[in-house]
Amino acid sequence: MIRLVLFGRQGAGKGTQAVMLSEHYKAPHISTGDMLREAVAEGTAVGQKVMAILDAGELVPDETMLEVIHDRLAHDDVEQHGFLLDGFPRTVGQAKSLLKIATVDLGVNLEVPERLVLERISSRRVCQQGHIYSVNDDAAREGVCPIDSTLVEQRDDDTPEAVTARLDAYKMKTAVAMAYFDSQGLLLSVDGVGEPEAVFRRLVEAIDARLDHDDRW
Ligand code: AMP
Repeated sequence: MIRLVLFGRQGAGKGTQAVMLSEHYKAPHISTGDMLREAVAEGTAVGQKVMAILDAGELVPDETMLEVIHDRLAHDDVEQHGFLLDGFPRTVGQAKSLLKIATVDLGVNLEVPERLVLERISSRRVCQQGHIYSVNDDAAREGVCPIDSTLVEQRDDDTPEAVTARLDAYKMKTAVAMAYFDSQGLLLSVDGVGEPEAVFRRLVEAIDARLDHDDRW
């Protein structure tokens, strides 16, 4: 059983790696972003509270996030298989609270330089069904998805201004949460540049080496 936290800038490939790591270690993938979007879609009390915040790309208050995560960590699957946390903690308050309510084996920082994620995100184009293209692909140039014929365009929150704002929030808040993990001897940084498969192998190797060394599991 493993209890991991995955940190990484928007556009670093964190979501993709989180899915692969969760399959590899057989630990539930817990994405707070996904949970909140589901709560909004279902119109729950939490969903109604956070809808406008999500739309604005701002951070949901720690208090609400702690309720959400506390409930989720109480499920049986977590007790049996641990967790792979994706998108939590994002502030130092969340980091401190998490370490109070749960044992965490390691926080992993998937490092991709800001310049590179900016390039990746600003050249990203998506169709209405979610197929992803680069600005230089025919689909993006023609503006029509070859798979489902829907419009291909830039996401509203992928404009340079919006992306810069979100990266700034990461620098101001989430970097402090990571520094806190580091101060507790719980942070491992791994180079996130490369093809997803290669980054995945690098991650597993680094995580296993660190946990074997720490003799935590
Ligand atoms: P994500 O899919 O991880 O990018 O999360 C989408 C949105 O959910 C974020 O822009 C925030 O508004 C909200 N969110 C997710 N996780 C957290 C968190 N740990 N703290 C505050 N807000 C969060």
